[in-house]
Amino acid sequence: MAPRTCVKDFEVNFGDYVPLSTLDWPGKASVVFFLRDCPFRCPYCQNYSILNGYELVESSQIRQLMETSRPFVSSVVISGGEPLQQEKAVSGIAQMARDMGLLVGIHTNGVHTDVLEDLIENELVDGVFIDVKASLENAEDYGRMIGYGSYPAVTISPLDAVNNVQRSIKMAAENKLLQELRTTVLPGFMDKPEDIESIASSIVKCAGRDIPYFIQQGETEHSMDRNLRELSPLSRDELLSLGNAATPFLNNVCIRTGKNGTEKITSNQSVA
Ligand code: SF4
Repeated sequence: MAPRTCVKDFEVNFGDYVPLSTLDWPGKASVVFFLRDCPFRCPYCQNYSILNGYELVESSQIRQLMETSRPFVSSVVISGGEPLQQEKAVSGIAQMARDMGLLVGIHTNGVHTDVLEDLIENELVDGVFIDVKASLENAEDYGRMIGYGSYPAVTISPLDAVNNVQRSIKMAAENKLLQELRTTVLPGFMDKPEDIESIASSIVKCAGRDIPYFIQQGETEHSMDRNLRELSPLSRDELLSLGNAATPFLNNVCIRTGKNGTEKITSNQSVA
């Protein structure tokens, strides 16, 4: 497919931005733009305030924000919501970053494979951070994690979702992009070692054993689903157990907790 033309003037359905972050692309200082809209409604979503609605912002305003951060950052991260839902905006922001000599990272749920392909063909992306919400071979679990059947806004079928996420991961691996896969875990959502075993086994088939895989502690109190807000997050020990379930399949497994940050899991790491 021939690369499409990149846009210079565009509008962004804007959610928010962070002028300087060291968390959104670990190891790099980034300016982060959050774009509105998403085809999923994960019950545990923390960014649910920007899943819909409109706040249109001109490209000139985005440029101004990026120029202000430029002396302090090496990269632009485009997040959401689901940023690839806004093809022109994400392409325009990425081109703007390139013009300023900045790296481009995308946080994505992986479902808009064609948009990711276009960015890759135009050499507008360096790193992708893809959510793997459940096993990529279990459409039923995936559907539950993305709110299919519970939220009318979710119209993509779970089978299409898993197929697209698989394609996105394979494409990023084949094009040798920096890639990080992430699963957010909460009580009742991918909280059992067998859930993580299934996820890890499905990841290997897409991207091999060496792909970095992060199991993230979901923050229950800020969840979109009010019923989750009363629950306690999974503990570090529970995440360690989940991490241990992934290590027979994957060589680079980490857990992330609010208190301890990122910790690499070595094989059969003991739980205190
Ligand atoms: S993919 Fe899920 S968690 Fe991410 S922004 Fe969309 S609804 Fe929220």
